[in-house]
Amino acid sequence: MLRTPAYAAPSAHDALAPITIERREPRAHEVLIDILYCGVCHSDLHQVRDEWGGAIFPMVPGHEIVGRVAAVGAGVTRHKVGDAVGVGCFVDSCRECAQCRAGEEQYCEQGMTATYNDRERGSDVPTHGGYSTRIVVDEQYVLRIPDGIALERAAPLLCAGITTYSPLRHFGVAPGDRVAVVGLGGLGHMAVKLASAMGAEVTVLSTSEAKRADAMALGAHAFLSTRERSMFRQHAGTFDYIVDTVSAQHDYNAYLNLLKVDGTMILLGIPEDPTPVGAFSLVTKRRRLAGSMIGGIRETQEMLDFCAEHGVAADVEIIDIAEINRAYERMLAGDVRYRFVIDTATLGGG
Ligand code: NAP
Ligand code: ZN
Ligand code: ZN
Repeated sequence: MLRTPAYAAPSAHDALAPITIERREPRAHEVLIDILYCGVCHSDLHQVRDEWGGAIFPMVPGHEIVGRVAAVGAGVTRHKVGDAVGVGCFVDSCRECAQCRAGEEQYCEQGMTATYNDRERGSDVPTHGGYSTRIVVDEQYVLRIPDGIALERAAPLLCAGITTYSPLRHFGVAPGDRVAVVGLGGLGHMAVKLASAMGAEVTVLSTSEAKRADAMALGAHAFLSTRERSMFRQHAGTFDYIVDTVSAQHDYNAYLNLLKVDGTMILLGIPEDPTPVGAFSLVTKRRRLAGSMIGGIRETQEMLDFCAEHGVAADVEIIDIAEINRAYERMLAGDVRYRFVIDTATLGGG
């Protein structure tokens, strides 16, 4: 076994602290990855605080992992030592159900195996994520990072990137469509970049007036403050799509009313508490309220290649692992531009 430095939450009420975990030598179809960078997703925070229930402690979060292949099992064909690779939100799935066969492993009928806060398939062994210096993953669940994307800016693509790319594609966002992105955080800033790279006319809806200039620099055509209640009247019925990345409870009905006839609002944010939806918000204009969760392996690779081709990557603030608890507080306060990324060299050798 490989003794590996990591940071873990001991319980839902404790700060993250150093821990040593065991990684195994790679089996025949597995890849050992030396982790270089790991993005900090708001889902990490929801899970270490057990806001979604069922949390497994100690928990080593992190599912925006980028590194280099350090060793491969005898049967590995897709990756070789030295390759720049990534791991996203899941590390396994049943590989047999209709969803897995369709390349939508995130919706595996048996349940995907999450990169952390889960257990390996058919065992009690907990999975541990990227707030660590290495990870062992089946080669089929490892992504190739294309040349031309800086590795620290690629890390957030493994969750924030694919989570926003997949619904834009699935729901058919086309050039000229009017897309509103609600919440300009990690997911939101990727939604702005990706939707505008696809040719959409993007508007940011934000609680933070201070992010106006950034929104425009990221590629938005307009910025609207959701603190101005009159905005919801002035812009009623004007968007084809709304991509909602907000991490805290808010009134979906107010946003639904901004959609045109046949418009679609896609929930990506997963607040702890449910919010009621009024039938009138949907029925009166044949609107749709949808959700979407990350994306499959094939589509994640497609997204990475799209980003390389279009010069898209995350805007990041690199942090030392010792800053992680403060970074969580800043993320909660909406003070992140636009993704914290851990330099895992700061975890020390192992
Ligand atoms: P983040 O960086 O913290 O961004 C969330 C943004 O939401 C904030 O920057 C803020 O933007 C806005 N916001 C926060 N609190 C708000 C409130 N009370 N009212 C209105 N707006 C508020 O988080 P993230 O990493 O992008 O994740 C966002 C959500 O998506 C989380 O719930 C996360 O768990 C979820 N998620 C889902 C998936 C999926 O597969 N569906 C994948 C990853 C993450 P402004 O300052 O612009 O208002
Ligand atoms: Zn995530
Ligand atoms: Zn499956």
